Amino acid sequence: MIKPIIKDVLFLNQKSEPATENDKYVVEDLLDTLKANKERCVGMAANMIGVNKRIIVFNAGFMDMIMINPIIIKKSGTYETEEGCLSLSGIRKTTRYHNIEVEFLDVNFKKQRQKYFGEVAQIIQHEIDHCDGILI
Ligand SMILES: [Zn+2]
Repeated sequence: MIKPIIKDVLFLNQKSEPATENDKYVVEDLLDTLKANKERCVGMAANMIGVNKRIIVFNAGFMDMIMINPIIIKKSGTYETEEGCLSLSGIRKTTRYHNIEVEFLDVNFKKQRQKYFGEVAQIIQHEIDHCDGILI
């Protein structure tokens, strides 16, 4: 189901709780809402649709990716960039890492570990920040 985008900064500043298998329904809502906003948005965290759980989805070029309880376990190579956010207006400066390694559960709750770089790494960092209550 397509959900409205939360813009309440006080809500978005809360740290999300770990997701469990009971939260699987959120993945479908996130994918539907991401698709509905694809002109303006390449990734989304569950709290942006009002669910305070650590789940993110993002577009990785040819497919949409789902990460449950993602954490960045390695990062290297900082750079300055500018980002927008569907929950905020305008563009803001931020610092990101070129290379990251992420540990997460896939949609079947199997543990995965994967390296990312460039634009996809940037989107993941933005969305994991949302899970930690951090806005750009
Ligand atoms: Zn955002």
